[in-house]
Amino acid sequence: MDVRLQKLQRRLEMVQAHHNYRQLTTITHSTEPWFTINGQPFLNLSSNNYLGLATHPDVQHAAANATTHGCGAGASRLITGTTPLHQQLEARLAQFKGRERALLFTSGYTANIGVIPALVGSGDLIFSDALNHASLIDGCRLSRATCHSYPHCDVAALEQLLSQSGQTHQNQQRLVVTDTVFSMDGDLAPLADIARLCQQYDALLFVDEAHATGCIGPGGRGLVAHLGLEEEVTVTMSTLSKALGNMGAFVAGPTVVIEYLINFARSFIFTTALPPTVVAAALAALDTLEHTPQQVQQVQQRGAFFRRGLQELGFNTLASQTHIVPIMVEDSAKTLEMAAALREEGLFVVAIRPPTVAHDTARLRACVMASHTEDDLIYAVEAFERVGRRFGLI
Ligand SMILES: *Cc1c(COP(=O)(O)O)cnc(C)c1O
Repeated sequence: MDVRLQKLQRRLEMVQAHHNYRQLTTITHSTEPWFTINGQPFLNLSSNNYLGLATHPDVQHAAANATTHGCGAGASRLITGTTPLHQQLEARLAQFKGRERALLFTSGYTANIGVIPALVGSGDLIFSDALNHASLIDGCRLSRATCHSYPHCDVAALEQLLSQSGQTHQNQQRLVVTDTVFSMDGDLAPLADIARLCQQYDALLFVDEAHATGCIGPGGRGLVAHLGLEEEVTVTMSTLSKALGNMGAFVAGPTVVIEYLINFARSFIFTTALPPTVVAAALAALDTLEHTPQQVQQVQQRGAFFRRGLQELGFNTLASQTHIVPIMVEDSAKTLEMAAALREEGLFVVAIRPPTVAHDTARLRACVMASHTEDDLIYAVEAFERVGRRFGLI
């Protein structure tokens, strides 16, 4: 091998030795929530298509019909990439979230790495939950602000950090950043307390509702709406890629923040706009969501049903309160072996290992969707029971 590539190879081998090597699996999508791999059927417990909107006929038709506008937007939003469809979707999303304005981004990842460096920079302070999503962490790093990580959901620790951080210059900005539903733990941020601290200590508050939007709160409006904190939270980020079954993301907040992001968020400015097909499909997904709010309740009911089943068997599901249910294993190698054993039982559950989660906190992570029937979930719990016993987890 080319000597210049040997270092890369060695690093890969090291990851492999620690059982943290990652590989792609090709999925043939069929009817939700089952799919096939090499012709074999699996119950899918690892999808974020929580409401089945990715395969909803109305959404598919909307995308197909929008190809008449072309397949690509052809330019960034500030050049010639803004169409009436984009404006319509942003107006609808603002209304959905109960905020003045909304702004589309091409993904949740790009939204987070754009918003944070726009809001704060060198000399400013960020306070970030230790279990925040990687895209938020990358946004914090890119901003060059001083970043304080506080222990997961620990309001007292956050308050201490805020009270100890003296203002070094008059224009210094403070920003608190948190997921609302944590993506690997399925628990909820203590948002009312965090919002109160932000007001008390003059900090902006940016929250990531990637797994909350479409899944919790009134009509799937998220945790901010559930707690009625629209006035307290400066700006929210939600994806169109999870419960909304599509691609892209949006932030929602006051007009001044949206105008500010249009001018300063580099990942908004310097990238091609979402294509009309995606925007039209997102509009249809939003329509469907607004017409079938009971789907949102169904996700949470099914999530609670599945979680209870696992807890009664003695599995450790951490502090999950949502449709995201972690099953703690700790050791990476064992987690991989358990995922393989579950696959033999016809369950597709992904092993989540470092660096996605902290060292020695490897886990299986199950996501419950509205399309899972109780029979599907009983089948899954029984398979977990057999495998859990075999591996001495219960
Ligand atoms: C998935 C996810 C993102 C990234 O969203 P994409 O649209 O997939 O780029 C950001 N934040 C959280 C919490 C997520 O779970």
